[in-house]
Amino acid sequence: MKGARFWGTRGSLPVALTSAGLGDKLRGVLRAARGQPIASDADIERLLGSLPFALAGTYGGHSSCVQIHSDGPDYLVCDMGSGLRPFGQAAMAQRAGQAQTFHIFMSHLHWDHIMGLPFFVPAFIPGNRVIIYGSHREIEFALRRQQEPPSFPVGFDTIFEGRVEFVHLEPGVPHEVAGLRVTTMLQRHTGDSYGYRFESQGKVLVYSTDSEHPLADPAHTERFVQFFRDADLVIFDAMYSLADAISVKADWGHSSNVVAVELCQLAGVRHLCMTHHEPVFDDAAIEAMLAETRRLEEITRGGAALRVSAAYDGLDIGL
Ligand SMILES: [Zn+2]
Ligand SMILES: [Zn+2]
Repeated sequence: MKGARFWGTRGSLPVALTSAGLGDKLRGVLRAARGQPIASDADIERLLGSLPFALAGTYGGHSSCVQIHSDGPDYLVCDMGSGLRPFGQAAMAQRAGQAQTFHIFMSHLHWDHIMGLPFFVPAFIPGNRVIIYGSHREIEFALRRQQEPPSFPVGFDTIFEGRVEFVHLEPGVPHEVAGLRVTTMLQRHTGDSYGYRFESQGKVLVYSTDSEHPLADPAHTERFVQFFRDADLVIFDAMYSLADAISVKADWGHSSNVVAVELCQLAGVRHLCMTHHEPVFDDAAIEAMLAETRRLEEITRGGAALRVSAAYDGLDIGL
């Protein structure tokens, strides 16, 4: 297991940068360029590299989809949000003409985590295999229903022709998939969600999205600390600020940056990557939350430093 690439990082529904949002960025970039040398392409690259990500980039974008880079030839993916579509295009470009196997791990069955499947072109191609894993009993039902009339023009069997298979994962029981040891754990979320712990050759990656953490429940905290224990990377649903998570948005099934830091510090995690960003947050808001989270990590640090990132569509993290 070499790392992860984020294809979809937005929670609840995809968002796009608007003309107004792009205009604000362009004005900010041009202001920053005043008095700077921009005659050569190298000058321009230097200038762009010096700007905050919220100005020179964007968090995006698509709803939840994360690729895990395995050591073998098979593809591994967590969730099938709208980011599954660009992932599929990239996978086809990478190994054009060769049969491919995709192992897809489902956190749960809310729309933002399943909407990409009908647009996953590799599953339309004879010879490819798509194996969908999860701990919900209704996975196949939910995915077939998504493509029933009048909600979608092409039926599940019509486009996939038997290329999609399903494997049930018993929570808490390790399974071997494509050379990885995979364990799921029940999380608190409406309709249930499951976190994934992937282990391979001494590396540990945890994918834990759409998960709410009651602060005053030590047994719950301990369960997650054990699940996150010594992970190289934890991909964590930090959709809200703590104030929102414990007041207006309590019981909405998501978590905060503050809880993320606390759990990862207790578990001795090396790198925390926050994802499932709130759709109303613009790039500046996410960047401000990242800065606040890094500051919090610094002032509460007891042992080794915890690296903190905010995921964006296209981010690649090595282990
Ligand atoms: Zn979600
Ligand atoms: Zn959800």
